[in-house]
Amino acid sequence: MSIPDAMPLPGVGEELKQAKEIEDAEKYSFMATVTKAPKKQIQFADDMQEFTKFPTKTGRRSLSRSISQSSTDSYSSAASYTDSSDDEVSPREKQQTNSKGSSNFCVKNIKQAEFGRREIEIAEQDMSALISLRKRAQGEKPLAGAKIVGCTHITAQTAVLIETLCALGAQCRWSACNIYSTQNEVAAALAEAGVAVFAWKGESEDDFWWCIDRCVNMDGWQANMILDDGGDLTHWVYKKYPNVFKKIRGIVEESVTGVHRLYQLSKAGKLCVPAMNVNDSVTKQKFDNLYCCRESILDGLKRTTDVMFGGKQVVVCGYGEVGKGCCAALKALGAIVYITEIDPICALQACMDGFRVVKLNEVIRQVDVVITCTGNKNVVTREHLDRMKNSCIVCNMGHSNTEIDVTSLRTPELTWERVRSQVDHVIWPDGKRVVLLAEGRLLNLSCSTVPTFVLSITATTQALALIELYNAPEGRYKQDVYLLPKKMDEYVASLHLPSFDAHLTELTDDQAKYLGLNKNGPFKPNYYRY
Ligand code: NAD
Repeated sequence: MSIPDAMPLPGVGEELKQAKEIEDAEKYSFMATVTKAPKKQIQFADDMQEFTKFPTKTGRRSLSRSISQSSTDSYSSAASYTDSSDDEVSPREKQQTNSKGSSNFCVKNIKQAEFGRREIEIAEQDMSALISLRKRAQGEKPLAGAKIVGCTHITAQTAVLIETLCALGAQCRWSACNIYSTQNEVAAALAEAGVAVFAWKGESEDDFWWCIDRCVNMDGWQANMILDDGGDLTHWVYKKYPNVFKKIRGIVEESVTGVHRLYQLSKAGKLCVPAMNVNDSVTKQKFDNLYCCRESILDGLKRTTDVMFGGKQVVVCGYGEVGKGCCAALKALGAIVYITEIDPICALQACMDGFRVVKLNEVIRQVDVVITCTGNKNVVTREHLDRMKNSCIVCNMGHSNTEIDVTSLRTPELTWERVRSQVDHVIWPDGKRVVLLAEGRLLNLSCSTVPTFVLSITATTQALALIELYNAPEGRYKQDVYLLPKKMDEYVASLHLPSFDAHLTELTDDQAKYLGLNKNGPFKPNYYRY
């Protein structure tokens, strides 16, 4: 695999005169501070969480603020091959050391490290862009002196990110952003490699906060960067250790939820460090939402139901990025696809792509599969569920489990039968069955895997955001939420092109002048929609 030469690494390696670029970028509003109000309001409880110091198997008290929805959604691309029930002793009660004698970690079983290392090596094969960033920048050590406290899914793919950050000079302490998603063997491999990781699959809420606390609260070590996915880590630091922010140079946040929380803080004037909104970078949006869902929708449906799609009638609610990805995959397999939309632009796009745009009521009696991807609530109601035909499959690809009114199905006249993991048959008194997947939670993250390549794009974006915030001269970023500079988005994409042996055309001087562009980018204004 060759390392791309087309673009220099922004901020690292040769002089890029970033300040000038930022100036240019601002001129073209390439690097706009996002001032838009968040779509959803995430509530912060003001009360502080405490974890029990000495947990017992029973009687861990519940917390006054629950962990975020994303912390409890299962993330099965991370599905551990090991059985988390194989050992009843809580990792918090175990004394473990790695082969170098360090016990600066808390994982399920350090002995699984070798297996985890294999998993990480397999992931590395499809994350060549991140590996090439690692190779290109490790001489420079752009993260030398960075002390990163991270809270993300702990999977083979994020392990490749964490080890890249270490190779670039950072010290890392890491916890899991989801109580179910940790690959225990991967956590063990990271601990064996010397990363202070505190995570295991099947943490209680109490464990969840304890792990975060162990990462933040360490004598003689203070974080100066935060990498968060969901905002729980940031929230914990705000509530428990606000002084830590005196040293923090920036927060990089990946999720919709976490980004909304940051905008809330910013709006309230409480954000005291710069934050980078990775969620809304083009590379993340397009690849996570459109292409990832195009790849994984069928996987999730087939693993759970073995359904054949040719000739099946499917209704997809929402024709945004996720809906477009799902529909493309379904259409390719010969399904007859209907769309519901509230937005005339997206509805018109669906028409132009050859789909029938309908109201859900018009097709609900005839469709074989119902898929929601709106990010909205109560899109599929009990009334719709009552009218579905026998064996209709119902699932959700949106962020939270609000799109299908699952609660309305918990009534005495309906029988629930768990037929497979993540598959429930809900049976009406007349014998009609509706096949409900993952109880209305995200189908692909709950029931299938997410392609490593897509995660490589997100991870590379996160690494670059950390490098940018850590190395930015004072004053470049204020106490606000920023999008990754467009040039870095382009750089992330350019790093992934060699995987396809794709060859970029270079602008001639004349063409660059004609278009008013720098030959090395950025190539599009911030408002460009791709
Ligand atoms: P989007 O805003 O691009 O698309 C959502 C679409 O739904 C919009 O076009 C909107 O007009 C439409 N809509 C809203 N309410 C509707 C209703 N009642 N009926 C019909 N259509 C309605 O968002 P997106 O990027 O497509 O993301 C959609 C959801 O999927 C979000 O919750 C997002 O967090 C989630 N998501 C899931 C995955 C995954 O892997 N499953 C990946 C990325 C994002």
